[in-house]
Amino acid sequence: MQATAFPATGQPATAITPISRAPEAAYPTVDFDAGLLKRLGKNGPRYTSYPTADRFGAEFGYRDYLHAVAGLRTRGSARPLSLYLHIPFCDTVCYYCACNKIVTKKREKAATYLSYLKREIAMQAALFAGMNEVEQLHFGGGTPTYLTDAQMDELMGHLRRSFRFAPDEQGEYSIEVDPRTVSAERVHTLRRQGFNRISLGVQDFDPAVQRAVNRVQPEEETRAVIDAARAAGFRSVSIDLIYGLPKQTLDSMRQTIDKVIAANPDRIAVYHYAHMPQLFKPQRRIVEAEMPSSDTKLQMLQLCIERLGAAGYVYIGMDHFAKPGDDLAVAQRQGRLHRNFQGYSTHADTDLVACGVSAIGAVGATYSQNVKTLDEYYDLLDQNELPVARGIRLGMDDALRRSLIQKLMCQFEVSIPALEQAFPIVFRDYFADELVQLRQMEADGLVQVGPDWLSVTMKGRLLIRNVCMVFDRYLAARQEGQRHSQTV
Ligand code: SF4
Repeated sequence: MQATAFPATGQPATAITPISRAPEAAYPTVDFDAGLLKRLGKNGPRYTSYPTADRFGAEFGYRDYLHAVAGLRTRGSARPLSLYLHIPFCDTVCYYCACNKIVTKKREKAATYLSYLKREIAMQAALFAGMNEVEQLHFGGGTPTYLTDAQMDELMGHLRRSFRFAPDEQGEYSIEVDPRTVSAERVHTLRRQGFNRISLGVQDFDPAVQRAVNRVQPEEETRAVIDAARAAGFRSVSIDLIYGLPKQTLDSMRQTIDKVIAANPDRIAVYHYAHMPQLFKPQRRIVEAEMPSSDTKLQMLQLCIERLGAAGYVYIGMDHFAKPGDDLAVAQRQGRLHRNFQGYSTHADTDLVACGVSAIGAVGATYSQNVKTLDEYYDLLDQNELPVARGIRLGMDDALRRSLIQKLMCQFEVSIPALEQAFPIVFRDYFADELVQLRQMEADGLVQVGPDWLSVTMKGRLLIRNVCMVFDRYLAARQEGQRHSQTV
């Protein structure tokens, strides 16, 4: 059975009381079961990689990275490249933030950073010289648009001189934009600079919520950026929302989601706010008493799912929704959706070259992460070393589980014969312990385990992380609790 995300084939959620008065979902791609979510929701990884980044170790360094690239060259890898650029600076801090960022108004810091970033790009380009072209580029942060137009021109020019890029219509060139930092004119400039996808951080349109998280962003400003992106010819416009923020109510969430739907973006991500003040300092400024209760948060999630479904958005997985015609939804229907550190992606088999402080790359059967502070980053580049701090080389078991978890996260199903063909295992023997846990999930209605397919049901989709966690062999040895965010 090749399940699809659109149209839905699962059981309608008849036993579940709708929370909004929106018409029935046109594309009911996920079933919401509050009782099940309440009972089974727990802390868990987001699986943007497997093994997850907390498994990376300092025993993997610069030389291991060079070895991994040399391996690609020896094998004559046919995989295209993906580039990730991390711009860590922000003007002000948003209290919910869990990103690697540097909050500063000293703009000259960006100029210094840019000069080192260009050095790292040149070193990476020398390693990958003559290899495949870049099909994917992603600027993340921090705030990528902290750079001025001139700095961005300089950086994009440097990238184009360093790597070969696929033509605009074949490549996915995206940038995260903070609408507070860009004008309509700047959006047109970004398109001219080569970006064809844009992702806007909105979080919530309610001014009270915006004040509570120190991110005041007038609705008109955001609308102007979306309109400009459409006019400039961006192929995909994406909006990020967060539920679970202080001062948020079911009613304010309803208003925000309806305004977002009216703005008509191609993709919408609705993230659950993970409150972990012991790990992320800015979150200590959030007034916990103002945060919605767990029950209200579940209702918010239900509301978003119902309204987005009714508006024609397909549930892609985790926190992501897209229009049926968007590349992500098409890739999912065609079984070629992929997941990496930037979330879901349409380009499956790429080697990910990551530049910038704290950036994470994936080359061959390795993951690697750069150092996290500017001082270390500058020091290592001054010594002509790539600033790799840690990483991991995947063994056969890791590669097998990565492949399985990828399939579950992206397609909600795994072909057992295909897995047995790709890896030297007999599924029922190799995963005998996991199958015992899956039987319990089957009894709960989350999965179906057949002789040929492991499939996640419509009800299980919102708990996809729980299903993947069954296959994460590092989790058993890990101290759970505060390390990961809640699965829903
Ligand atoms: S949420 Fe984005 S803009 Fe806000 S502090 Fe974090 S990285 Fe900066």
